[in-house]
Amino acid sequence: MTKPNTMDFTGVVTPDAINLQRQGDKEKDELAGVEIPELVPDEHPLLRQKLERFDFQNPPEDPLKIAQILLKAVKQYKGLGIAANQLGLPYRVFALTGNPAIGIPNYVCFNPKVATTMGDEVLGDEGCLSFPGLYVKTKRPQQVRARFQSPYGEVITKTFVGLTARCYLHEHDHMDGITFFDNLSKMRREKARKDWKIIKRRMK
Ligand SMILES: [Zn+2]
Repeated sequence: MTKPNTMDFTGVVTPDAINLQRQGDKEKDELAGVEIPELVPDEHPLLRQKLERFDFQNPPEDPLKIAQILLKAVKQYKGLGIAANQLGLPYRVFALTGNPAIGIPNYVCFNPKVATTMGDEVLGDEGCLSFPGLYVKTKRPQQVRARFQSPYGEVITKTFVGLTARCYLHEHDHMDGITFFDNLSKMRREKARKDWKIIKRRMK
């Protein structure tokens, strides 16, 4: 998911910001040699496919390497989140960006699940790296109780709120081949498709 253009995303700088900044720099160094694939085009079949569970017993690829690719890609493409299939990788995993320099961790979520959602549904702007420049108003619950596996295979349960909850749910949809068009009413979907056609034409 991309940052809605209407939202100002500022972090709080804590007293140990310098140490945390060092951690951020360390993260940058760790990702320095990682090569990232290009985003697949919007009509790529992988974006419409339900992805299979990542098998930690018999991993098709090193999960730590996949995690590094996703973390580097989400920063480079300036997303809030990115799903593996958007990069042509057929794995059930996505990354959510934090800001380690100010103490907000990144998450790489393998085999993500939505245990439950809480709070009212909120209408908000949503963007997607696979449809750059298009923002659609989508209803999402305020909070999500998320369960996923870390790149080491440990099961993690976490509650995400607000924009992070929205982002988790958006990326979770990608795991099942669902894009943000699919969550819209018929009228809104048609309008969004028209807008996307215009944006695409301008990009050429
Ligand atoms: Zn997306």
